Amino acid sequence: MAKKEFVVFGLGRFGTSVATTLAESGCEVLAVDADEDKVHEIADFVTYAVKADITDGDALASLGIGNFDGAIVAIGKNLEASVMATILVKELGVPYVLAKAQNEIHAKVLKKVGADMVVFPEKETGIRIANNLIMGNFFDAVELSSTFSMMELDAPDEWVGKSLRELNLRAKNKINVIAIKRAEVLDINPDADMPINRNDILVVIGKNEQLNRLANK
Ligand code: ATP
Repeated sequence: MAKKEFVVFGLGRFGTSVATTLAESGCEVLAVDADEDKVHEIADFVTYAVKADITDGDALASLGIGNFDGAIVAIGKNLEASVMATILVKELGVPYVLAKAQNEIHAKVLKKVGADMVVFPEKETGIRIANNLIMGNFFDAVELSSTFSMMELDAPDEWVGKSLRELNLRAKNKINVIAIKRAEVLDINPDADMPINRNDILVVIGKNEQLNRLANK
């Protein structure tokens, strides 16, 4: 399978983190910034690093990104650059554009001009960290949407010795147990009649409120 190709505009902390993670994961990454130092700093960690002003349509067109799989517009403070880059990459035919917003108005503008996904990295990270702190009983949480998460949960005492069928968690607790980790072995198709052991770790999906309630039982 051909490697996925991404372009990242803006090499602040967010853009650098996205660009280097994509590259580490085996994607082809073109990193672009107007600041030469930023370009030099990332050059060894991505496929190509280029100094360019992304408000310059000709410079952008010359990068040849029309066939790329996605673009990340990681510029918060320079509204003009962020909006222009989003419009121009959409015009060049990039199918998926993810853009970082500073505030709600910025987000609205980005969506209007064609951004497929708008993110607020600081706000979203803050929410995730706070949720993880509240749900102290959970080892880790993966946010599936703003209301649903997938988490690893220590089997509560009152569940020990009972099977998933008896517990009827889907109906009673509105959660789904998708896997059980026992002695470091992950069973992704747990038997509904198998009793839960004391040290089992359950991988569950559910609404944040339900998961929170279970964690604080
Ligand atoms: P972070 O929070 O991710 O560190 P930031 O909010 O501090 O980012 P931004 O203003 O979002 O900083 O800028 C990110 C990067 O975008 C900077 O490295 C800046 O040089 C680059 N940048 C800003 N305007 C342009 C432009 N017109 N063309 C190319 N790069 C630009």
